[in-house]
Amino acid sequence: MRPIDFATPTSVEDALRRFDAGTAYLAGGTTLVDLMKLDVLTPDKVLDIDRLPLRGVHPRRDALHIAALERMSDVAAHRTVVQDYPVLSQALLLSASGQLRNMASIGGNLLQRTRCSYFRDITSACNKREPGSGCPAREGVNRGHAILGTSESCVATHASDLAVALVALDASVVLTGREGSRTVRLDDFYRVPGDTPHVENQLRPGEILTEVIVPSLHWARRSTYLKVRDRQSYEFALTSAAVAVDLRGRTVRDVRIAVGGVATKPWRLPHVEQALLGQPLRESAVVRAVEHAADGALPLPYNKFKPALLRRTLARALTSLAN
Ligand code: SF4
Repeated sequence: MRPIDFATPTSVEDALRRFDAGTAYLAGGTTLVDLMKLDVLTPDKVLDIDRLPLRGVHPRRDALHIAALERMSDVAAHRTVVQDYPVLSQALLLSASGQLRNMASIGGNLLQRTRCSYFRDITSACNKREPGSGCPAREGVNRGHAILGTSESCVATHASDLAVALVALDASVVLTGREGSRTVRLDDFYRVPGDTPHVENQLRPGEILTEVIVPSLHWARRSTYLKVRDRQSYEFALTSAAVAVDLRGRTVRDVRIAVGGVATKPWRLPHVEQALLGQPLRESAVVRAVEHAADGALPLPYNKFKPALLRRTLARALTSLAN
């Protein structure tokens, strides 16, 4: 038994003031508690921030503002999200299980750790958990691992479906620390592993992710999230695609694409977006455009199927928006 200090701050300022080395913030608890039970995370102090006033979905003229402690299920069911940003609602509803979505917060979802089984097993080496110890996934069980954005040090995928949809929509996160708040594009927030896979994002010690901002995009009504996985419930993506398309007639006027399950962070595909501009949203044109979706991929021994599956996932997501 290891003693842990536990406190319930009453405000964001109070939480920031109480934070010191060895502290973990607790929100919905669906990641932190799991990892503490496995001894993967061993904080000396836990600050329960779940009751801080960081709730609500606020549609404004220029952007949709989602407070970080809003529950996944509440955001998925919010009328504006369902009507104007279906890609977000669908990504949330295809995540985890109903019980987990009722507990898990939006901020926690974006900050969740990888599902790499070696990371979650403290008897295994893992550069992300213990820098310099090695990456057994490269030669081991790697069917679900990444093929894009990888390094010699780490090949773990980013697990969040919501993050993929938000990156496609060019969303930002607000990070609040003792020095104030700063806004960072979510695409820039996440880091590829390089030789420091334990540094996963731009969050500074003590900072709290307080809000997600999704810029208004009227044509995001024509958007979708397609997730391919081994079973239809409570499973992480082998591949996924978040797409939004602006059409004039059948012609693509603008498009946003991000993919998941294949990369070490949510992965934008600007060259595929470019290839689709001015094209008819028909199967033949889409298949041509997605041909290079997996360019640069470095498949591992057990996930050589992923480049082809990624192309097919993306083509299906795009063509589903034609009507
Ligand atoms: Fe650890 Fe990353 Fe290797 Fe998994 S892929 S064992 S998380 S270093």
